[in-house]
Order: sequence, then C-alpha cells, then structure tokens
Amino acid sequence: MHLRKRVLVTGGSGFLGSHLCERLLLEGCEVICVDNFFTSSRQNIEHLLPNPRFELIRHDVTFPLYVEVDEIYNLACPASPIHYQHDPVQTIKTCVHGAINMLGLAKRLRIPIFQASTSEVYGDPDVHPQPESYWGNVNPIGHRSCYDEGKRCAESLFFAYHRQHGLPIKVGRLFNTYGPRMHPNDGRVVSNFIMQALQGKPITIYGDGSQTRSFCYVDDLVELMLRFMRNDHEFCGPLNMGNPGEFTILELARRVIQLTGSSSEISFLPLPNDDPKQRRPDISLAKIQYGWEPQIKLFDGLDLTCDYFKKQLASEGLREK
Ligand code: NAD
Ligand code: UDP
Ligand code: UDP
Repeated sequence: MHLRKRVLVTGGSGFLGSHLCERLLLEGCEVICVDNFFTSSRQNIEHLLPNPRFELIRHDVTFPLYVEVDEIYNLACPASPIHYQHDPVQTIKTCVHGAINMLGLAKRLRIPIFQASTSEVYGDPDVHPQPESYWGNVNPIGHRSCYDEGKRCAESLFFAYHRQHGLPIKVGRLFNTYGPRMHPNDGRVVSNFIMQALQGKPITIYGDGSQTRSFCYVDDLVELMLRFMRNDHEFCGPLNMGNPGEFTILELARRVIQLTGSSSEISFLPLPNDDPKQRRPDISLAKIQYGWEPQIKLFDGLDLTCDYFKKQLASEGLREK
C-alpha cells in the first residue's frame, strides 16, 4: 500500500521529463521515471537519484510495462527532427505501440493518463494561429510524418480508449519549448543558435529566416501540464500548450547574438523539406480552463538557457580555444 501519489513519467530523463519529475518530487509525489535513454542521458536526472521517492527504470515503452501507479505522463518519444528522423520506424513504434502499452496500463489501473502530443499535428498550418479545432495540414508520407502521423495516431488511440473504455485522458499539444537540459546537439533551433553563439560559430538559419515559431519556457509548460492533469477530469483536451509570442527565426538569431554578445555571423542554409512556415498557438482554451498564461518572456528564458549551456561547455571543456 502507498499513501503518496505515485506518478509514472515516461521519457522522464529527457528535457521536459526531467523538469516534470523534479516538479512532482518537489510536490511530495513518488516518481517512477521510465526511459530507454534513446535521446537522453542519466545526467538530466542524476541529481534526483538520491531522492528515496524517485525510481528509475530503463525500459522501452514499445514493450509492455507492469507497474502500480496513480497517474501517468506519457512523454517518451524522440522530439527533435534530427532525432525522430534518425530511426523513423522506431519513432512510429514509440508513438503508437508506446501509447497502446501506456493506455493498456492506465486501463488496467483505471487511472488518468496525459499524452504529450505536439503542434506538429497541425503540420504546415493554413490556419493561423492554430486553435485546437483545426485539423491540420500534414504530409502523410513526408520525412516528418513518422512523428506527425505517429502523434496523430496516438491522439486517436487516446480518444478511442476514452470513448470505448471510459478512460480519463488528457491530450496536450505542446508547441516549441526550450530551457535548460535541452540536448545541445539535437538540432533544435534554440539549442543550435545558443551553442553556435557561445562558441563563435556561424548561426545557421535554414531558408531566409522568415518562418516563425512561438517559444515557451519549460517551467511555464510544466505548470500547465500539472493544472491540466489535476483539474476537471471531464475535460480531455486536446489542449494547446505553448507561448503565443511569435518570432521569425531571423529575429531569434538576432536576439541570441544580442544576449550572448557573440561575434558570430549569420549563415543561410537550405530549408528542410516540409518545414512549417508559421506556428503560433491559440491559447484561449488554456486561459479559460485553467487561468493559465505563460509568465516567462523570451529574452529572460533565453538568458536562463544560455547560463545552462555556458556551464555545460565549461564543464565539458568543449569551448573552442
Ligand atoms: P527528449 O528527447 O529530451 O525526451 C524524450 C525522452 O524519451 C528521452 O529521454 C528519450 O530517451 C525517451 N524515449 C524515446 N523513445 C523511448 C522509448 N521507446 N521508450 C522509453 N523512452 C523513450 O524530448 P523532449 O523535448 O523532452 O520531449 C518530450 C515529449 O514532449 C515528447 O513526446 C515530444 O514529442 C513532446 N514534445 C516536445 C516539444 C518540445 O518543444 N520540447 C514540443 C512538442 C512535443
Ligand atoms: N499493458 C501493459 N501494462 C499493463 C496492461 C497492459 O503494458 O499493465 C499492455 C498490454 O501488453 C497490451 C496493451 O497494453 O498489449 C494494451 O492493453 P489492452 O488491455 O488495451 O489490450 P489487450 O491486452 O486486450 O490487447
Ligand atoms: N532552424 C534553423 N536553424 C537551425 C535549426 C533550426 O533555421 O540551426 C529552423 C528550422 O528550419 C525551423 C525552425 O528553426 O524552421 C524550428 O526548428 P526546430 O527543429 O527547433 O523545431 P520544429 O521545426 O520542429 O518546430
């Protein structure tokens, strides 16, 4: 028998997962972190290991998992284009088989389960900003489809288990999120630009930099995840989770250069296929349901993220002489 709430976080040693585990521990929960370390290392959660309420299980969610918990956050999945396109079949298996296994676990225990879905379900959107009611514009056979369609299928599975088995589900559509513990080499724009600026390397803009993204600081996102999961089990989502502040990639590059005082030049490289031209969440629903709005401005969040990467570079001796 356990008295504290025991929470399973899949992908718990990843960027977002590690922040979520930390926050749940701070709130007194027991946390079971499940990860196969496909895109992360133990380093992200090393500081949590001494905590007796924290347990780490090395496991691939495409295989069944039998544990006893009170709620599940399903975050396991490679998230950056480089990572999820590295082994597209495994990405689809993680999205789909991973979802089936975690839903099967939630169904056996009759417990709430959160799914980390993504703004990528909107594809290259022709509605802007994107409300949850928009069905998206996704190329089903493109290079991104292993992730986009995998996540769309996972959403479909979550709603099928909800309708067919009455499972309490929460589907959150996460927009670009950044912060400390992002992987320095996973090719995402914020980590790339900061690492390049700190090392005095050229800032690589793909295309002409006029494409837009909206960047949410990790703490704001984790706060919304908890509010979504803990309030009103009638509301299943989908719920947009992100910061509506929209910037062009060129603006982002300039901000990073300004913040770091870097002498890096900007270099323009070809735009990858199917790269969405614009992306901004409509967060009216999050405001109405949970009174949530992001608190951390891009400049402040980038500053905190820069500090993290500076420390990483210093400790790993990667800084170019
Ligand atoms: P991340 O790569 O840092 O974390 C993902 C974690 O999942 C890693 O620790 C990885 O090892 C683990 N993992 C991958 N496949 C697994 C498997 N088969 N079994 C067990 N563990 C596995 O990425 P992140 O940014 O922390 O993303 C977390 C979740 O949020 C993902 O589901 C991602 O799709 C979603 N998401 C993230 C963003 C973002 O901007 N960070 C945006 C939209 C959606
Ligand atoms: N499952 C799991 N842990 C559990 C219960 C189920 O990993 O505690 C897996 C199980 O292997 C199954 C999947 O979840 O393949 C879906 O379970 P469900 O009960 O929906 O389907 P069924 O077992 O009837 O195929
Ligand atoms: N991008 C870029 N330079 C980089 C990395 C990414 O210009 O070094 C662009 C990329 O083409 C995309 C945007 O930045 O238009 C966001 O890319 P990211 O991979 O971070 O996220 P996603 O495309 O999944 O939103």
